[in-house]
Amino acid sequence: MSQWNARVSYRAGETIIRQGEQGDCAYVIESGRVEIVLEKPDGRQQRVGTRGVDTMIGEMALVDDAPRTATVRALEDCCLLRISKEDFSRRLLQADPVLRLTTQVILNRYRDILTTAEIASQDRSAPAEALERGHAERGQVIEGIRLCNDLRAALENDGLELHYQPIVSANDGALRGFEALMRWRHPVDGLIPPDVFIPLAETSGLIIDVTRWAIHAACAALSRLKAALGRDDLYVSVNISSADLASQTILNDVWLALKESGLERGQLHLEITERMLMDQPERARAVLRAFRMLGVVIALDDFGTGYSSLGYLNSLEIDVLKIDRSFIAAMNGDQRSLELVRAIVGLGKSLGLQVVAEGVETSTEAEGVARLGFDSAQGYFFARPRRECDIAADVRRPAQSLELRVSAR
Ligand code: C2E
Ligand code: CA
Ligand code: CA
Repeated sequence: MSQWNARVSYRAGETIIRQGEQGDCAYVIESGRVEIVLEKPDGRQQRVGTRGVDTMIGEMALVDDAPRTATVRALEDCCLLRISKEDFSRRLLQADPVLRLTTQVILNRYRDILTTAEIASQDRSAPAEALERGHAERGQVIEGIRLCNDLRAALENDGLELHYQPIVSANDGALRGFEALMRWRHPVDGLIPPDVFIPLAETSGLIIDVTRWAIHAACAALSRLKAALGRDDLYVSVNISSADLASQTILNDVWLALKESGLERGQLHLEITERMLMDQPERARAVLRAFRMLGVVIALDDFGTGYSSLGYLNSLEIDVLKIDRSFIAAMNGDQRSLELVRAIVGLGKSLGLQVVAEGVETSTEAEGVARLGFDSAQGYFFARPRRECDIAADVRRPAQSLELRVSAR
């Protein structure tokens, strides 16, 4: 219980935090009101404030080891979100040094915001907007904490899904493999896209568990899809994050997923970005080398959007180059863009890399991609990301088979 965050309830009059005791958690008030009481040495009690919904109590326990400085009692029946110090510290320890430092700075700032809001609420001359800003920022922090807790629950209760987008041969549209793209089916907020929750998973340290789940799920799904489609030569490509490269367990996770699913060498691809190579070049290189020894193929994602140092292309640790959608879209607009893409494809191929076009949306783009010599292509023109069961169902409906529309163009 003390290890995890959880929802807890208190009845009116019950003590939530006792002055002088060692604190091991903080609480966010989800419903109800509490009073904060100072216990004087002579036994008298003095109420110093009250707190309501969306405020935090006992938060100093997350950052220091001092005993509780006041008693907190429920004024009404309360529902609280308990943030355990152990869990909080564990996440902080897992984070890379930059993330850890940033979190500490934000935490100190958060403490300042709380204090400022408190002073402002007692001082009628304080500008209203400063008070509002304090509340708004506090609201964001609390919303982030709520989503983080929900995300952990999703991870434990099958709330995350992978959808699979076909990657096809640029020449003839034949299926080559799939990119696994994650979705979160939130019980209240609905389907949440990865752009929203992956950054949250990254800052909270949950990304390690999320990626481990994704790699296992994707390998197992590919093994089933190979059987369903009667194809032994497909691959699945999984996106990973910076923190995964720093994780001590990632190699073991990948090894285990490959072993359990029985995939062959080359059938698991991992997608990284240039930023990940920049963040921790030495570590990244070592981990990527180890991945490749396990038979994993490394793809450089979103090429052209980041730093696009040509040096990375020559890195021995990369096998596949995924050219970002912005280049594919611009290609048919003007001659210079077209020539730029042609040069990138040529360079990639001369270095022995597989070159993949991302985000192909129209037949004109698909034709351009084939003409420029891309090896593979991916995009809404060929197929959208879909659930495993829908892809497998296609085998039973040959008219809409996975040998995609491009062959008819
Ligand atoms: P990405 O890796 O660049 O993935 C491609 C994104 O483009 C996907 O968005 C995909 O649905 C979308 N897309 C595919 N074809 C087209 C097209 O023809 N046109 C357009 N406009 N878009 C297309 P999605 O699924 O929303 O994912 C967004 C990003 O979230 C991904 O970008 C990736 O960076 C991240 N992500 C997704 N799943 C995971 C995951 O399991 N782990 C991690 N770490 N990141 C993930
Ligand atoms: Ca990707
Ligand atoms: Ca991409």
